[in-house]
Amino acid sequence: KKTEWAKLKNEASVSADGKKLVVGSNIGTPKDLAGVLESGSEGVGLYRTEFLYMDSAELPTEDDQFEAYKTILEGMGDKPVTVRTMDIGGDKYLPYLPLPKEENPFMGYRAIRISLDRTDIFRTQLRALLRASVYGELWIMFPMIATLGEFRAARDIFNDEKQKMIQAGVAVADDIKLGIMIEIPAAAMLADRFAQEVDFFSIGTNDLIAYTMAADRGNEHVSYLYQPYNPSILRLIKNVIDAAHKYDKFVAMCGEMAGDQIAAPLLLGMGLDEFSMSSTSVLQTRALLKSLDSKEMAILADKALNMDSNDEVKALVEATLKLK
Ligand code: PEP
Ligand code: MG
Repeated sequence: KKTEWAKLKNEASVSADGKKLVVGSNIGTPKDLAGVLESGSEGVGLYRTEFLYMDSAELPTEDDQFEAYKTILEGMGDKPVTVRTMDIGGDKYLPYLPLPKEENPFMGYRAIRISLDRTDIFRTQLRALLRASVYGELWIMFPMIATLGEFRAARDIFNDEKQKMIQAGVAVADDIKLGIMIEIPAAAMLADRFAQEVDFFSIGTNDLIAYTMAADRGNEHVSYLYQPYNPSILRLIKNVIDAAHKYDKFVAMCGEMAGDQIAAPLLLGMGLDEFSMSSTSVLQTRALLKSLDSKEMAILADKALNMDSNDEVKALVEATLKLK
């Protein structure tokens, strides 16, 4: 099988019936770039920039960040690179940035909530991104968005820094896309409102499933509640994809679910545009999508959306794919 997959390395991702798709990579550092290029991936769907902050003894400077972003953008050439602004907090901690001690860090001061409070840190990151934007195809997204107000505040700060740079004569790309992670159920439910203001969505199912099921991602006692095929999760995802498409917006997924071989057929059926995952899963997923008819998968997804449980959906997909 591996040799079959390898043949797809330089091919575009497309379903059996010709629907164009994107299969991208998730990365944590510029060092992951070699694996991305090796994998035949069609872009970086998620660059987790918090590792820049975690691998440093102090806040990374604008120049440090600029170098990292430039390396990745240049390395990817004309393929899109989606950079997520810092997602610190939850289980990710910085020795030099003391955070308040909290009862529920996953529901606490983290990600965009910190960025909108510590706008000095946020603005530094945005300036580094703006400077790097001329070296490639930059998309920027904000993590853990719960409300439209948060997105608008982040966007306004971005636009403010962009205007300042332009006035200072610094070259900045004029087509940077701005999007949000959909990983909080509130944002998934209100996706039709968000879709009118963002350029794209990226569904973060690791957190979306955790928050929807009220089950900590890292707690083994409740790990049975990580249920990516649960119709409740599928309905949220469907709502997000439909909302995006109603307003001609692009919708990606960068949570683990995107590279899951049972979930991918359902996601294709629901109309997902981009599947972003670990580079090592890219070719396997491209091969799977190439074997599937999107209209048949839409019928399959409709059935799944009306089932009772994760296990029922899993059995349905397994039975259907084996029948073929
Ligand atoms: C997610 O929540 O699905 C996601 C991709 O972000 P992270 O795993 O970094 O929280
Ligand atoms: Mg997340």
